[in-house]
Amino acid sequence: MALKSSYMKEIYETVCRRNQGEPEFLQAVREVLESLEPVVEKRPDIQKAGIVERMVEPERFLQFRVAWVDDNGSVQVNRGFRVQFNSAIGPYKGGLRLHPSVNASIIKFLGFEQCFKNSLTGLPMGGGKGGSDFDPKGKSDGEIMRFCQSFMTELCRHIGPDTDVPAGDIGVGAREIGYLYGQYKKIRNEHTGVLTGKGLTYGGSLVRKEATGYGLLYFTQEMLQKMKQDSVKGKKIVISGSGNVAIYAAEKAQQLGGIVIAMSDSSGYVHDEAGIRLDVVKQIKEVRRGRISEYAKEVAGATYTEGCKGIWSLKCDIALPCATQNELDGEAAKQLVANRVIAVAEGANMPSTPEAVECFLQEGVLFGPAKAANAGGVATSGLEMSQNSMRYSWSFEEVDQKLQQIMAGIFHSAYDASAEFGAEGNLVLGANAAGFLKIAETMLAYGLTF
Ligand code: NDP
Repeated sequence: MALKSSYMKEIYETVCRRNQGEPEFLQAVREVLESLEPVVEKRPDIQKAGIVERMVEPERFLQFRVAWVDDNGSVQVNRGFRVQFNSAIGPYKGGLRLHPSVNASIIKFLGFEQCFKNSLTGLPMGGGKGGSDFDPKGKSDGEIMRFCQSFMTELCRHIGPDTDVPAGDIGVGAREIGYLYGQYKKIRNEHTGVLTGKGLTYGGSLVRKEATGYGLLYFTQEMLQKMKQDSVKGKKIVISGSGNVAIYAAEKAQQLGGIVIAMSDSSGYVHDEAGIRLDVVKQIKEVRRGRISEYAKEVAGATYTEGCKGIWSLKCDIALPCATQNELDGEAAKQLVANRVIAVAEGANMPSTPEAVECFLQEGVLFGPAKAANAGGVATSGLEMSQNSMRYSWSFEEVDQKLQQIMAGIFHSAYDASAEFGAEGNLVLGANAAGFLKIAETMLAYGLTF
């Protein structure tokens, strides 16, 4: 798709000029601007108040030094980030990513998308994101702890339960959240809901661990039912990644009667036509922190292939990219379409390239964009914040039921907005428009405060 209006073109040109060398951020902004053209056309008040111009510029961008000592006694230096993108509808909210690829562009694309996603959940959360280029792979527990403590020593000045509430993302799971929260509590002398994804003994919520993956399947089920009168039951499913999102997407897919035939990590993928044994994957990934290749050595009939991209050449009915950004390109999308894929829903953030998205939309494949389809994680983080404020805990069933309602609500908001703005069934446009409008109305109500 191309930008049509001179108004949006001008905004995009300014964003390009201000954010040179940040391709992921520009990609995320461009997609949103394309979707918002019909919205802004109908709403001159939004244009007059400069809402779009304000939303593409983060409220605050923090970058800091993170120094720590490795097991050999050597000083190591990493770069820490936190972008506080938009706080119109609630405290900044978004995860922390630890991966060597992390830079300003990645953090800003994630923070920008987070604003719309959080808005879509219907909960009062603004958008933010953070992380570091620290590589957790191969590090000892002690090294991870010392890094997390150093990172939080700076970050704790900028966050708080009513200001900014980080969570996990790639490379940040229960262990890292524990170290980060322990350091925050030590420095601030406060026991508050400043992070989500916490352990159950110190304020965590049931279902948070499972939430993004489960939510992805609740969304996919709703999309199949509403748009094709079909369901996950009996469908062959390919899931990329084998981290937090992928594992719990696979678990819910199996509970709904789907057959997960492949999973991957950044080295390669395993194919098991009999259906992936999740107990084996959990043992390898969650307990041993091993490689997915070990699966093929342990399960008869399964094969391992080096390299990630080939996973999209497997014949399947549903594809769920759950690893990382731009992992599914135009060529992979064409292969999926040739193999008659019915639905694609994004568990990872921006896993499909613009060419892939275009291909799915043109070929009539049901497509659930990340902002809508993977919002279950942050929605349950929102529920964790509510429980922390009440100093109370809901049961697994209570949280799970709320999650299901929220995911169905997100699907319907995106679908209804797609119809309202003349592109019924285009959930990319629908999710962007619905997420945007709630923030825009709020910013209009505030006047020009920021
Ligand atoms: P994890 O760190 O738990 O798992 C990430 C998985 O993706 C691993 O299997 C990893 O393989 C693989 N991976 C990472 N980088 C690459 C790469 N460059 N190429 C191929 N595979 C890669 O992270 P999560 O499961 O939490 O996050 C996965 C995605 O979901 C991310 O895009 C994240 O932003 C998004 N997301 C996460 C949410 C959450 O609640 N956790 C919420 C919403 C979105 P390896 O082990 O080899 O590195």
